[in-house]
Amino acid sequence: MPVIARMIPSPVAVIVEHGALDRLPGILSDHRISTTGRVAVVASAGSGGVLRARVAPLLPDADWFTVPDGTLASAVRLSSELKSGRYDALVALGGGKVIDAAKYAAGRIGLATVACATNLAHDGICSPVSILDDESGRQSVGVSCPIVAVVDLDVIHEAPARFVASGVGEVLSNLSAVADWELSHVQTGEEIDGLATAMARSAGHAIIRHVGNVHQPDFAAQLAESLIISGISMNIAGSTRPSSGACHEISHALDILYPARRAQHGEQVGLGAAFASYLRGDKELAGELAHTLVRHGLPATAAQAGFSAEEFAQAAHYAPRTRPGRFTILEHVDLSEADLGLAYGEYLAHIDV
Ligand SMILES: [Zn+2]
Repeated sequence: MPVIARMIPSPVAVIVEHGALDRLPGILSDHRISTTGRVAVVASAGSGGVLRARVAPLLPDADWFTVPDGTLASAVRLSSELKSGRYDALVALGGGKVIDAAKYAAGRIGLATVACATNLAHDGICSPVSILDDESGRQSVGVSCPIVAVVDLDVIHEAPARFVASGVGEVLSNLSAVADWELSHVQTGEEIDGLATAMARSAGHAIIRHVGNVHQPDFAAQLAESLIISGISMNIAGSTRPSSGACHEISHALDILYPARRAQHGEQVGLGAAFASYLRGDKELAGELAHTLVRHGLPATAAQAGFSAEEFAQAAHYAPRTRPGRFTILEHVDLSEADLGLAYGEYLAHIDV
């Protein structure tokens, strides 16, 4: 009988603990990523300075780089700068923008990325995607998964609460994204991956059922692990499908239509997930998502996110254009903007937050 198993692209080490950054040199040498400490480290130009003061003495042979923003141009520039030295790996020390720029820059020159997340606003810690801005908007670019994921819970404790809570919306949106994928499987015959859906959904359930909040270390640890599992579910699927459906299409549409008023990505996708679940007829999940979002101080209504009901309906109508070829509840119901406005009104009455 054949014994066949598939290999899952995933980090060789996942470390979620207090003081994890202090162990960084040991983590790098234990896993044969860098035994000499000759690594490049990239951090943000602003808040990265504080962490540099802490990490630089641990890695005395490292060269330091900064990225000013989350643009493709900055990531390309970083990639060029990295060619000036010989490094064992690129350590990314920062939030989503720094990690996304690092994954892209390292991939261009064949370096492995060690992702050290300083907030939990995003699921890019272990995902095979970098979100980068260019002149035509916000792009999702395929990259390699980081070789190590590190989350220092002491650093997360110091991060602005909004940049941690936002990850709650990101993980919760899995529950809607997976339902969209299953809908597409039934309606269009799109192939579905049971392991990817199981992992993405489990990550979402772990957060929706957790009674804690972002100020508590055990909740932060659960959130970090859920974000990492989400990223690996995307590696399994070979796409963002397990974590991105109508929820993300609505968020991308808000980004495109109202770029000056973008809320946090996790805030927008959480709201999108609750509304998409309502559209899908899963009123129980819509209510559960909305109440969990509100409990964590995240928006469950357009008004709470800074948009009018009309603007939200417009974004929901525009949303399918942001991801051509992806079938979600929005493509399935194919409602007019006016009907989406009516559905949004019914959603508001239902969630009652
Ligand atoms: Zn996302």
